[in-house]
Amino acid sequence: KQKRYQSLRGRPAVTKDGIRIALLMNAGLLVDMSHLIESGADGVGLYRTELQFMLSDAFPRLDRQTQLYRSVIEEAEGKPVVFRSLDIGGDKVLPYLRQPKEENPAMGWRAIRMALDRPELFRLQIRALLKAAAGRELRVMIPMVSAPYELGAIRALIEREKAFLTKHGHQLPSSMLVGAMFEVPALLFDLDAFLTRVDFVSIGSNDLMQFMFAADRTNARVASRFDVLTAAPLRALRMLIKAAKKHKVPLTLCGEMAGSPLEAMTLIALGLRSLSMAPASIGPIKTMILSLDAEKATTYVEELLKEDAKDLRMSLQQFAEKEGV
Ligand code: PEP
Ligand code: MG
Repeated sequence: KQKRYQSLRGRPAVTKDGIRIALLMNAGLLVDMSHLIESGADGVGLYRTELQFMLSDAFPRLDRQTQLYRSVIEEAEGKPVVFRSLDIGGDKVLPYLRQPKEENPAMGWRAIRMALDRPELFRLQIRALLKAAAGRELRVMIPMVSAPYELGAIRALIEREKAFLTKHGHQLPSSMLVGAMFEVPALLFDLDAFLTRVDFVSIGSNDLMQFMFAADRTNARVASRFDVLTAAPLRALRMLIKAAKKHKVPLTLCGEMAGSPLEAMTLIALGLRSLSMAPASIGPIKTMILSLDAEKATTYVEELLKEDAKDLRMSLQQFAEKEGV
């Protein structure tokens, strides 16, 4: 199988009915970047910058961060890389950062919330990213956005860093895209305001489903209790996919869902055209896509979501088998 996937490396992921799906890869360390060429991914859809921070024994300084981000961009050889700004807190702990003890860290002081309250770390990281991408395109994605106004505050911080670097004679990136992760269900009910403030969006389905079902992703007892292939989450995703299309905002999904063939098939059926996953999943997902008739899958899923379908997962499984997907 591994050989077969390798032979697909140079082949774009196009469905039987001619729809191109972008297959991106998730990464978090410089060593992961070797998988980009190996897997044939179209780019890096999620670079988890906090991994470097979790492995260090102190905050990485500006130069060290700049160097790392520059190496990542260079290893991508022109393919796009989406850097996620620090996602600390929740299940991601920095041993050297004193954090208040929290009853519910996943819903606590984390990610963008820290960036807005104590912007020093965020600003340093943005400065490093801006320097690393001098003269090139920079894509930055903000985790755990809960309300549209937060994006205005984040953009203001970024503008400050740009002004600072310009004042000191540094070259800026040739262009910069600021995106957000979609992980908090409240945004579903403020989609227009949210989507007008972002350049792109990536669905963090791990956190989104944790919050949608109120089921702790780190608690084995409840983590797999609810199925993402059921009506409620699929309707939620469909709503977001439609709204993003209306606003012409590029949309990806970078949670675990993207790497499972049945889930990925369903996401494509719902209209998603870009997926980001672990490098090892690229081959299997591409194989699935090459044998999929997306229009047919869309019609099927639309029908399923109309009725009070009992077992969506089983129905989808049967559809995939019948279609030879
Ligand atoms: C997610 O929440 O789905 C995601 C991709 O981010 P992480 O798993 O790093 O929280
Ligand atoms: Mg997340």
